[in-house]
Amino acid sequence: MSMAGREVSPPAASGKRPIDVVYIVGTHRSGGTTLGTILSSGAGVFYAGELYRFPFPIFDPGDPGRMCSCGAPVAVCPFWAGVRADAEARPGLLPELRRGQKRFEAWRRAPLTLLRMTRKDPAIQRHAERMEEFLRIVADRAGASVVVESSYSALRGMLYRQTDLGGGRVRFIHLVRDGRSFFGSELGPAYGTHPGSPWQRVPPAIVARWTAFHTAAIAFCSRGKGTYLRLRFEDVLLRPKESLRAVQAFLGVDFSEAIRRVEEHQPIAMNHICSANRARLAGSLTVRPELAAPSPLSRAHSALFWSMAGWLALALGYRPGSRQKTAVPVPPA
Ligand SMILES: [Zn+2]
Repeated sequence: MSMAGREVSPPAASGKRPIDVVYIVGTHRSGGTTLGTILSSGAGVFYAGELYRFPFPIFDPGDPGRMCSCGAPVAVCPFWAGVRADAEARPGLLPELRRGQKRFEAWRRAPLTLLRMTRKDPAIQRHAERMEEFLRIVADRAGASVVVESSYSALRGMLYRQTDLGGGRVRFIHLVRDGRSFFGSELGPAYGTHPGSPWQRVPPAIVARWTAFHTAAIAFCSRGKGTYLRLRFEDVLLRPKESLRAVQAFLGVDFSEAIRRVEEHQPIAMNHICSANRARLAGSLTVRPELAAPSPLSRAHSALFWSMAGWLALALGYRPGSRQKTAVPVPPA
């Protein structure tokens, strides 16, 4: 539907080509890598992963051990090395991007950032333009007209709305995964070079983060007709045809080949994914329905979860005890 509209729409006054952002909002460990990989099978779509990790820490200070899904370290992957070269050719782009992230994207700065957004503050505008510039470099390198980003932060997603994207649009997919599974995986070992501060992994803080991020996603991103779709990861796993057809209708992109592959448990190719779940290291992704079972929690953790976040879990369609009996503890894909 909308793709056809897009092709005939005139370029923006800036003369830049339109780039659409599909922003996956919610929390980490929600299946964003799986969804992004599925979406990247659509024509003209590139899944860029967690773009907030650029330039820090992926380009600067750089992580020699970070691998791209293509099998090369990110530092020498032809795609990301090309993105980096293009970005470094723009004076000040990467340092300014980093400064803006620290200044406007940190959660403790959220009230001030929101205030500045409503006032169309020039400094916010400038940061959003820098974000667009980087996004455009990625899109140009990938030959894409749609970039999928799974940075999850509602605040960052809103910043894209401050730019014109050459006439492109920002659309949000609010990806929700059972809070018990989020809780269970956050209790497990931390990985990566920047796993966050230890207080984030205290049980009440884990549940509070799940609640806060999803509440923020609903509060900030669900406004605007045709720009918000809520999707449960468990539905993608258990009812792929139904749920992915809803995504197809929402984005106006054909995903029928990916839907078939998900249904038949066949691998889906990953194209230069370097900032997402470690599942990327396999180079392709096979969707495993068994991940839909919620993580088994101890009685104390279960009581903590339902007392703190039960209202939201119920509103999102989760029920106590559902499928617990068949839970198979497996790492997230
Ligand atoms: Zn690569």
